[in-house]
Amino acid sequence: MRLSLRVQALATSPIRKLTPYADAAKAAGKKVYHLNIGQPDILTPPQYMEAIRKYDAPVIEYGNSKGDPVLIKAIQKYYAEKGMNYDLEDIYITNGGSEALIMAATALCDDTDEILVFEPFYANYMTFAKTYGAKVVGVPTSVDNGYHLPSEEMIEKFINGRTKAILVTNPGNPTGAVYTEEEMKILSRLALKYDLALIADEVYREFVYDGPYKSFGTMPELDQNLIMVDSVSKRYSACGVRIGCLICKNKAFNAQIMKVAQGRLCSPAVEMVGAAALYETPSSYFEEVNREYKHRRDTIKACLDKLPGVKSSEPQGAFYVMVKLPVDDAEKFAIWVLENFDIDGETVMFAPGNGFYGDSTCGVDEARLAYVLSSEKIEKAIYILGEALKAYPGYTLK
Ligand SMILES: *Cc1c(COP(=O)(O)O)cnc(C)c1O
Repeated sequence: MRLSLRVQALATSPIRKLTPYADAAKAAGKKVYHLNIGQPDILTPPQYMEAIRKYDAPVIEYGNSKGDPVLIKAIQKYYAEKGMNYDLEDIYITNGGSEALIMAATALCDDTDEILVFEPFYANYMTFAKTYGAKVVGVPTSVDNGYHLPSEEMIEKFINGRTKAILVTNPGNPTGAVYTEEEMKILSRLALKYDLALIADEVYREFVYDGPYKSFGTMPELDQNLIMVDSVSKRYSACGVRIGCLICKNKAFNAQIMKVAQGRLCSPAVEMVGAAALYETPSSYFEEVNREYKHRRDTIKACLDKLPGVKSSEPQGAFYVMVKLPVDDAEKFAIWVLENFDIDGETVMFAPGNGFYGDSTCGVDEARLAYVLSSEKIEKAIYILGEALKAYPGYTLK
């Protein structure tokens, strides 16, 4: 059979592409510290399994394409408590935040239409865009100012007649950047000036370590232009549940989304029941989880700062840090570590940085580290990383 050019143009996930090397290391009896994937080790709140165990139905039927009304109500309440008021009609349940992003791109973009994204960005944005015919245009940001936004004039240069949306991840993955109110106002002004959608991917909203957090949903001027993407995956350490949502007040947009939602029938019935229970998680859960992540952030930052030639971002949220490494090529280095390096049978895996750029010749000496392990494990993993750097033939500080 003959395969599409479209599918062949997709890249392998930078987060998962080195898995065969990690599997080989494990088969050889080594222990691998996984800093490559944002799969938290935090326990899923017990409310989830309690709801699933109680679930009972004679037939697991198709549900409403918009999603389970109980879950929609729970999400409405969650937002209302944060000062964001949505009608039940504004909320669509999706199969993870991923499907919300896909639906938004589908409703906004024809082939070659453009979505602006700040680089480095969540690698799957590229896969979604290429699969559904949109084009991701990377607007560069730099480790030197913690991956914060460039000036309004600079961003404006990337907007043209084909631009349909600005997609913004706040807090950021892979950067951990949390935007200031002034940065958010820049994006809001540009969205309104050029009649663009502002797609706010706020799946890390609850993970902010230094000071206040403002959601794009609290900016009334964006009322008709904002598309909110959300998910239970990271918030409740429930990545396998595959439930997210798409929220928008623009009725014309919503009418189109409804057709896309109907085309895939409905989200998983049982998982929606579990997800609704997750929204009852008390806020004390987040306080505890945030304390833990902040501690991990401080740990990984302190460990990285001790390594000569390593430059890292100042993550203020989410659970990632982007680092510049003193190596010829971070992907080669990552593979070399998994194949050749261990300390007492332990080694480390991380995601090469170039996969988080639109142009894979960028970020070749960068890597994304996810601090989703305990602080003791992080200390060990970064120690191994530092020793591996010194032993690596492509180390540039020699
Ligand atoms: C994990 C993630 C998502 C989507 O996750 P789902 O599991 O599909 O909800 C979306 N955006 C970013 C930035 C992510 O890190």
